[in-house]
Amino acid sequence: MEYVDLRSDTVTKPTPEMREAMAEAEVGDDVYMDDPTVNKLQKKAAEMLGKEDSLFVPSGTMGNLLALLVHCQRGHEVIVGDKSHIYINEAGGMSALGGIHPRPILNQIDGTLLLDDIRAAIQTEDVHHTITRLICLENTQNTCGGVVLSVEYTRAVGKIARENNLSLHLDGARIFNAATALNISVKDLVEPADSVMFCLSKGLASPVGSMLVGTNKFINRARHLRKMLGGGMRQVGVLAAAGLISLEKMSARLEQDHARAKNLFEGLKQIQGLKLDASPSSNMVYFDLLDEVKLSVDQIVEVMKKRGILVDWAGPSRFRLVTHYWVDDAGVEKTLHAFGEVFKNPQG
Ligand SMILES: *Cc1c(COP(=O)(O)O)cnc(C)c1O
Repeated sequence: MEYVDLRSDTVTKPTPEMREAMAEAEVGDDVYMDDPTVNKLQKKAAEMLGKEDSLFVPSGTMGNLLALLVHCQRGHEVIVGDKSHIYINEAGGMSALGGIHPRPILNQIDGTLLLDDIRAAIQTEDVHHTITRLICLENTQNTCGGVVLSVEYTRAVGKIARENNLSLHLDGARIFNAATALNISVKDLVEPADSVMFCLSKGLASPVGSMLVGTNKFINRARHLRKMLGGGMRQVGVLAAAGLISLEKMSARLEQDHARAKNLFEGLKQIQGLKLDASPSSNMVYFDLLDEVKLSVDQIVEVMKKRGILVDWAGPSRFRLVTHYWVDDAGVEKTLHAFGEVFKNPQG
């Protein structure tokens, strides 16, 4: 069966054009910095984000970890959102591997951290205190609904960072979705950040890889640490070739995914038994099941699968559906039809 797979945008398979480029990629040993395709990708990513240099890394998790390890020393503290990927979904790498202390503060519904909360969390000089070194933001903010942080907000946080001698790292796993939603260039959006991680492997549809972006000095240090973590790869131009297509082509079509997420949202809103979050600002639709629904989330996953739709729950009565390159208008229609059928009789 051909499934409509809405579990995540990480499920995106390479496009036919990517597979062709991968097969024909010019390669070399990237640990020697000899892979022309990787070098081209890194140059392109740095240019698009308006930073000096960039580094291809195997995953977003490694990219964020490298950023934390470069910005912070053992015992340093980093201000993070309590619903941020770095804080909840990266296996505690910053503490386990870097001896870095997270200082979580509340993510608001709109994905932001209150500026006053950030200011209040910065440690003062005191023998009892850790030393605050870094602020992390996430854009789009995934668990808050794929919500978008504005450039004005990002600038305001950057200003706080500079005034306090801190750095600002942006977990921009979906920064191209954010820039698309705001209708501005990714370069303008990330200007206030010292470093940015973004994923090629999500809405940009590459099979593997993320980019870490920052100053030359920052990237040189990150390259050393990437080797330490076992992330120095060899003829990795076969992957970078797909990454180049992600940057050149896929970054320009995300509007379609956002429009389809809105269509999903509008359709699901009509279905009895579901309580939708706010209208999606990017490619994610979140909703809760009302108490009247007697089916469990697991049962819903099962019956939807039988109808050719793959969905994943995001909590005991919560779902997240994610649109991407491989979900077309027909897929959205099919999904709405299936949900309609399953919820016709919400008592099951
Ligand atoms: C997916 C994701 C990451 C990590 O990327 P992986 O490649 O899965 O390690 C980091 N931050 C956010 C917000 C993400 O959604």
